[in-house]
Amino acid sequence: MFILEGVSKRFGGLQALHPLSLTLPKGATSVLIGPSGCGKSTLLRLLNGLSRPDTGRVLFDGQPLATEEDALLAVRQRVGYALQGGGLFPHLTGAQNVTLMARHLRWPEARIRERLGVLMDLTRFPADALERFPGQLSGGQRQRVALMRALMLDPDVLLLDEPLGALDPLVRHDLQADLRGIFERLGKTVVLVTHDLAEAAYLGDRIVLMRDGQVVQQGTLEDLESRPGDAFVTRFIQAQR
Ligand code: ADP
Ligand code: MG
Repeated sequence: MFILEGVSKRFGGLQALHPLSLTLPKGATSVLIGPSGCGKSTLLRLLNGLSRPDTGRVLFDGQPLATEEDALLAVRQRVGYALQGGGLFPHLTGAQNVTLMARHLRWPEARIRERLGVLMDLTRFPADALERFPGQLSGGQRQRVALMRALMLDPDVLLLDEPLGALDPLVRHDLQADLRGIFERLGKTVVLVTHDLAEAAYLGDRIVLMRDGQVVQQGTLEDLESRPGDAFVTRFIQAQR
């Protein structure tokens, strides 16, 4: 679904991503994992054109990712994205947050309602809570709203940046199980960011381990465990045992 070729990104004096190449297959859940600051969010934002690489290129479904705003808008309709922390607008209700893009695209009201119903079933979200503002929702509910918003336009790809970050263990456990069920039911291409190895193994088909703006190793958890590419891989795995 995505092919990254020699992609790099710099912020001032900081090389956030060194030139890297990576393939993210269609229909699979790929998990970007690595220590805080290693470039996971930066990499994720390159996939929907929210940020542009300094070098290299990103192919999306066989085509170089568009650069003009109009064409990018079309890409973003096919690539749903939930920001780290959810990124909900605090002055809009849950329902308004979820339906924002559909309204912008002038979907008929009936179609919006119908889609909202489907998403509430999928994420097991109570209808009354959708009328609350993000500040009145629990952390888990906010993440579910962010997930619904990312899914609203029925995209081919779902980008989720730490969808389980900052949740208490029980809520996290429930949402984790729900996410896995949702990924299975939808069969979409998912790219998920986490720094938790157990979560990566539970939710992902494949793991992409990053460090200091580079991809260190990729494969299943078993691949990483049985054939760690270097000492960092071994340490990263052992630290989370
Ligand atoms: P991660 O998501 O793995 O924690 P990020 O991709 O957010 O890491 O960040 C990688 C590095 O790039 C960090 O050092 C971060 O401070 C830096 N960075 C990210 N975005 C920006 C930005 N917009 N401006 C300057 N530095 C940034
Ligand atoms: Mg991040």
